[in-house]
Amino acid sequence: MSVPLTQSSRWFARPLTLVVVVVLAAVVSTGFLGLRYWQERQAVSLAHERSRQVLETLDRLRAVIADVEAQRRGYLLTLDPSYLKAYGVSDESVRRDAQALQALVANDPLQNHRAGHLALTVAAKLREIDDIVKTASTSGLAALAMIRSLDEIRSQIDQMVDHERFLLVDHEKRAEALEQRNAWLIATAVVIVSVLAVVALALARLEAARRRKAIAENVALHGDLLARDKKIRRLVDANIVGIIIWDLEGHILEANDAFLHMLGYDREDLASGRVNRTDLTPPEWRYRDARTVEELKRMGTVQPFEKEYFRKDGSRVPVLLGGTMLEQSPNHGVSFVLDLTERKRAEEALRQSEERFRTLVQFSFDVYWETDAQHRFIHQEFAESLAEAPAPGSEIGKTRWEVPYLEPDEEGWRKHRETLDAHLPFRDFELARPGPDGSKRYVSVSGLPMFDKAGRFVGYRGVGRHITERRRAEEALRAMQVELAHANRVTTMGQLTASIAHEVNQPIAATVTNAQAALRWLSAQPPDLGEVRDSLRRIVEDGKRAGNVISGIRALINKVPPRKDRFDLNEAILEMVALTRSEMLKHGILLQTELAPALPMVKGDRTQLQQVILNLILNAIEALGGGDDGTRELRINSEREAAGGVLVTVRDSGPGLDAEDVERVFEAFYTTKDKGMGMGLAICRSMVEAHGGRMWASANEPRGAVFQFSLPLEQDESVQARQIQSHPAA
Ligand code: ADP
Repeated sequence: MSVPLTQSSRWFARPLTLVVVVVLAAVVSTGFLGLRYWQERQAVSLAHERSRQVLETLDRLRAVIADVEAQRRGYLLTLDPSYLKAYGVSDESVRRDAQALQALVANDPLQNHRAGHLALTVAAKLREIDDIVKTASTSGLAALAMIRSLDEIRSQIDQMVDHERFLLVDHEKRAEALEQRNAWLIATAVVIVSVLAVVALALARLEAARRRKAIAENVALHGDLLARDKKIRRLVDANIVGIIIWDLEGHILEANDAFLHMLGYDREDLASGRVNRTDLTPPEWRYRDARTVEELKRMGTVQPFEKEYFRKDGSRVPVLLGGTMLEQSPNHGVSFVLDLTERKRAEEALRQSEERFRTLVQFSFDVYWETDAQHRFIHQEFAESLAEAPAPGSEIGKTRWEVPYLEPDEEGWRKHRETLDAHLPFRDFELARPGPDGSKRYVSVSGLPMFDKAGRFVGYRGVGRHITERRRAEEALRAMQVELAHANRVTTMGQLTASIAHEVNQPIAATVTNAQAALRWLSAQPPDLGEVRDSLRRIVEDGKRAGNVISGIRALINKVPPRKDRFDLNEAILEMVALTRSEMLKHGILLQTELAPALPMVKGDRTQLQQVILNLILNAIEALGGGDDGTRELRINSEREAAGGVLVTVRDSGPGLDAEDVERVFEAFYTTKDKGMGMGLAICRSMVEAHGGRMWASANEPRGAVFQFSLPLEQDESVQARQIQSHPAA
């Protein structure tokens, strides 16, 4: 507050001095001029007075001279001594006047000279007249001479009178000029006084304004102080932070409840003086305390710093401390004390959480990464140091890890890029990169988009895992599965030998029968060529049937890589039914097929899915073959699922499954059969799942087991109308 005040006083101090200087100069010069005027005025009136006196004296002298002349002339004309009565007196007064005149004109050299000359002339003439009077008897000549000598005096007097009159006129002129100057001086004085009055008024107003402002500022300052005081008081009372008032020796004079509570003391302890700053401070903090005291003495305040205090029970409390000396008393200060226990705990918790996170990353993931809004790596943490990690700032999908694209291909990467640009989360994005030895190294990456408070996308956070080993294991497993599936198929075919033999034998036997019939029709007289043609057509059909059976079996047994083709599921089911028909017959099983007419085409490996169906049928036949009571029923359904896929159900009325077995039967090597492998259902499920489908088992009502699998459909599957084919096994 004091800063603007001095600034404002400085602001008007400069013109003020200027004004004061100007006014002073005006006053001094006016005073000087006034003094000069007064002196000149004095001199002029003195000179005027003297001139007047000179003229008076000269007049008197002239009168006395006239007197003297009249007396002397009278005497000389009459010789009457009575004329000489006053003689001595007149003489004396003439001389006195001449001397007085000399004194009066002492300052005027010309007049002085003339006065001197006049005095001498007067003295000389008077003596001369005396001589004339003493020596001469009555004579007109003497009188004339006397008069003549007096005329000289008179002319000298006239000269002086003239000069003096001239001087008088001059004095009057000077007096007039002085009067004029006087008027100017008065006018100037009036102007100066007015200016002074205006300036004084302005200054007074300025000063008043300044005072008003200062008062207002003081009031505000006071208000501020009060408000601050109130705030401090509130802070003390609110007990949010501990507040203490201390002296430099270490005594705590005042403390609020928060402080006492923090350290486990009470008011009594404080009053008894037991709470001492030095005692509260653990030894290793004493040096810091001494430094703080030094700082307080030097600077009056100390920056907040962390330290520890002892609680009453001896335990320690971490605190944040800041303080300042009190202005009023140089030995006392106030400090705030903030309990950092919670913060330290939070920090520790954070540190531990970070450590846990690090451990988690180390054990669960091989890399933790973060990118910015432009998908550039800004942070990466690797479980083990990697020489060929993507450089910071490089962009996802463009680092030397990824380019040239191995897996996925460029198209796959483009799709991934679309996911990134749409700021969507992604999981298990698997990519391959070339290893140092040229082999493929696989990495699985997952990421979550991050948004700031305003909802703006700021980048991704994610993890990555090396999955090369897993990939290899998966590949090995897949190879093994193929191997096992093959073995399973061979076994299944082994089980089917009789059925297959029957399937093949039947058309062959029919061929033989038909051939014999044809021969018979040929040897008839006349040969019935129509019958022969019929027999031969049947032979061709039987031959084709046998051929189909054998090629189907070959396809099932052959180790062929999975294919993706569109096929009619119902047809595939019927083929498997045909293959197992004789087996069913052998066991007296009643088969019912209920295939949905408008089943869409299925996309996948026809042979694999046929193997699944075959497995289920054979398992059912086996289950039904073991029992000896009741009707043996086998039902095969195909239908559209509500969810949009297709569902195949194989239902039997055999011994069925226990509730706990419905999942176990799918485990590898789980079997209840003497010569079973326990792989059939496990392989079936993995094949169905490889097609994106599901497979499960449940109990049939009133008895038996139900095995079902569903397959998803591609979006563009066309719906084809089909007839219901429902018929018992012949
Ligand atoms: P395997 O036939 O070699 O035993 P599977 O995986 O095909 O191997 O079958 C596993 C087990 O599931 C069988 O041993 C049998 O106990 C049970 N199982 C399979 N199908 C049926 C069924 N239709 N009814 C009752 N149990 C069955």
